[in-house]
Amino acid sequence: MQYISTRGGIQAISFKEAVMMGLADDGGLLLPKTIPQLNASDLASLTDLTYPELARRILSLFIEGLSPADLEDIIHRSYGSFDHPEVTPVVRQGDLYILELFHGPTLAFKDVALQFLGNLFEYLLRERGEKMNILGATSGDTGSAAIYGVRGKDNIHIFILHPHQKVSLIQELQMTTVTDANVFNLAIRGTFDDGQRMVKEIFGDLEFKNRLYLGAVNSINWARVLAQVVYYFYAFARVQKETGCVEVYFSVPTGNFGDIFAGYIAKRMGLPVRRLILATNENDILARFVDRGDYSIAEVVETPSPSMDIQLASNFERYLYYLLDENPAEVRRAMTEFSQSGRLNFDASLQMRVTRDFLSGSATRAETIATIRDFHQKTGYVLDPHSAIGVKVGLQKAAGDCPLICLATAHPAKFGDAVLEATGTPPVMPASLQGIELRPRRCEIIDADTEAIRRFVTEHSC
Ligand SMILES: *Cc1c(COP(=O)(O)O)cnc(C)c1O
Repeated sequence: MQYISTRGGIQAISFKEAVMMGLADDGGLLLPKTIPQLNASDLASLTDLTYPELARRILSLFIEGLSPADLEDIIHRSYGSFDHPEVTPVVRQGDLYILELFHGPTLAFKDVALQFLGNLFEYLLRERGEKMNILGATSGDTGSAAIYGVRGKDNIHIFILHPHQKVSLIQELQMTTVTDANVFNLAIRGTFDDGQRMVKEIFGDLEFKNRLYLGAVNSINWARVLAQVVYYFYAFARVQKETGCVEVYFSVPTGNFGDIFAGYIAKRMGLPVRRLILATNENDILARFVDRGDYSIAEVVETPSPSMDIQLASNFERYLYYLLDENPAEVRRAMTEFSQSGRLNFDASLQMRVTRDFLSGSATRAETIATIRDFHQKTGYVLDPHSAIGVKVGLQKAAGDCPLICLATAHPAKFGDAVLEATGTPPVMPASLQGIELRPRRCEIIDADTEAIRRFVTEHSC
């Protein structure tokens, strides 16, 4: 499988090159040249596979140049760190299914992708005799998941920017208590979007990027999207087995459009998804886009679901590429227009096409808390605020004639304040978080200034 850029400015490259490149050198995002298609009998053959077996089947459709044994080893090491034998179990609660994606080391769905990416990087760097300085911005969960993905690994340093005092205490502690020598936490005086913008700027400086062997872990890396495709197939197989359904809905709490884009790839591969339900908090640019073709940027609002407090969804360009008939010139035109005016409008016919794949809705702060409370009262199950948004919007938008699978993207213990407010009881702390506030920490507070970041990375690079 070869990879191309949404902006059409690079030669087709291999999977390994795509992983190492992160953001495409022309400023676009990397995508497979074609999307593998699975027919009904292919799908039927996936039904009884374990998670690692399924991962091997799906991933090998997109990966070449890795021996089956090496891929299997990477998969086993990546998902052996999960504390559930099914890796991403599906549980029935009330009228819907919950796909639990939070059994990895940092208790959020990003571990699914970043445990894999960390092992993949280590493998590729060893093979090439190279080193890498990873630079990324996080709104909370990516940072800790990325840090856990590469902590202690050879030939890798990692620099993670998070908005100072704008992530939850647990999220901050999960990052700053990793004191391995190859891990650098930078708390920036600014927002997540500032962090993401600075990272994009630094990656856009090709001379710097190449000189410092910069690598990306934020959701622009294709390998992350790819790893997430697997659990859509896994959840479908589990629910189909139980219900005999022919189609399902997936409801996805959305921020950077990475998770739901993986679902879109699964759908394009032939997974029978009736609609992907895109659920946002009050930062609803993507919901407005799906609902009325209005993709216009607004101020970031803080909510109880901070990992979705995002306006610039970095994976949106990947979807735009397909929406604009895989025409890189059109993508370039749209992205230029967006960077100049902060908005894109889509006409009715494009809008219609969006709604063949997506439904959408958003939840306010009060609705999020009420959903945690109501769902807990009805089922005894505790949702985290991100997952609650998916449940709320999913129940609102899905028709009752086909199963609804809601992605649970974080463990409730990561967002204890919201859970306490909703249910009157703090969530049960899993063992990995007990006593975390007592551990030693390491973190640098720094201005939201691209030059300052560049200097820090240079001084601490490997
Ligand atoms: C990152 C994250 C999301 C949003 O996922 P995207 O891929 O950015 O759309 C939702 N919930 C949680 C808990 C997250 O960490």
